[in-house]
Amino acid sequence: MKIVVCVKQVPDTTEVRLDPKTNTLIRDGVPSIINPDDKAGIEAALRIKDENPDSTVTILSMGPPQAEEVIREAIAMGADDGVLVTDRAFGGADTWATSTTIAGALRNIDFDLVIAGRQAIDGDTAQVGPQIAEHLGLPQVSYAEDVKVVDENTIHVRRQFEDRYHIVEVKTPCVVTTLAELAEPRYMTVGGVYDSYNAEMKVWGLDDIKENLNVDHIGLKGSPTKVKKSYAKEGKGQGVLLTDLSADEAARAIISKLEEKFII
Ligand SMILES: Cc1cc2nc3c(=O)[nH]c(=O)nc-3n(C[C@H](O)[C@H](O)[C@H](O)COP(=O)(O)OP(=O)(O)OC[C@H]3O[C@@H](n4cnc5c(N)ncnc54)[C@H](O)[C@@H]3O)c2cc1C
Repeated sequence: MKIVVCVKQVPDTTEVRLDPKTNTLIRDGVPSIINPDDKAGIEAALRIKDENPDSTVTILSMGPPQAEEVIREAIAMGADDGVLVTDRAFGGADTWATSTTIAGALRNIDFDLVIAGRQAIDGDTAQVGPQIAEHLGLPQVSYAEDVKVVDENTIHVRRQFEDRYHIVEVKTPCVVTTLAELAEPRYMTVGGVYDSYNAEMKVWGLDDIKENLNVDHIGLKGSPTKVKKSYAKEGKGQGVLLTDLSADEAARAIISKLEEKFII
């Protein structure tokens, strides 16, 4: 099975702090990481390869030149090769322009299965995977907790719902979006790190994929949505300490506070 995993390089949002004085985000020193849902997607692809050694795993990332780092990291985990899609023309893209570009790059690749993460921890929209499927006219299964190859043309995906799961049978080629809970991603191996420096990496700019997409639908210009304003949430005010209350009075005080704030 030929698998492409779409991987986004994201700031580690667990490390982003709010400056309480200025209410702005402190981004200095925040490391860039593989988006967690995508890392589970890489693991899912590598497990398929473990069971079906003929399989190939290609990592595709769109971003600035430093996004090469996440591709090399995935290769060090066991992926075969990578494609970095990078060009100033792709910058400032919203999800529509991002998915248009990624779908354009995928049209250059022979694949059976495209895996994307459910959601990126910075943009947080969960739109890119399903949009890629729509652009390419492929079936899609989102929220995958498990992916199993049944035969060359069929996979089973365990799809998470709030209170249950579905096993969905889907014909390849198709798109699956994976959840971080799917699997504990494996570590890079020392040999893998070594090999990743010499692994094949294609770098595609607009010229390499422009035949495959509508150039009016890429980058900032091709984005139907624009971020008009971005600001930090107001910090919470100081808490109120209720003292000398009986248990009943304390419960009533808490309930009335929650009602006042329309929480209940
Ligand atoms: C209204 C709007 C305007 C924006 N404007 C700008 C802007 O001006 N400048 C700017 O830099 N960003 C901008 N962004 C952010 C940028 O569009 C998103 O980061 C990008 O479209 C991916 O969306 P997401 O992060 O929500 O990913 P999701 O849809 O949550 O990602 C789902 C999955 O898709 C795959 N994926 C997503 N992006 C990539 C990628 N680049 N490469 C490979 N795989 C990927 C990953 O597998 C990921 O797990 C904007 C976003 C929005 C919603």
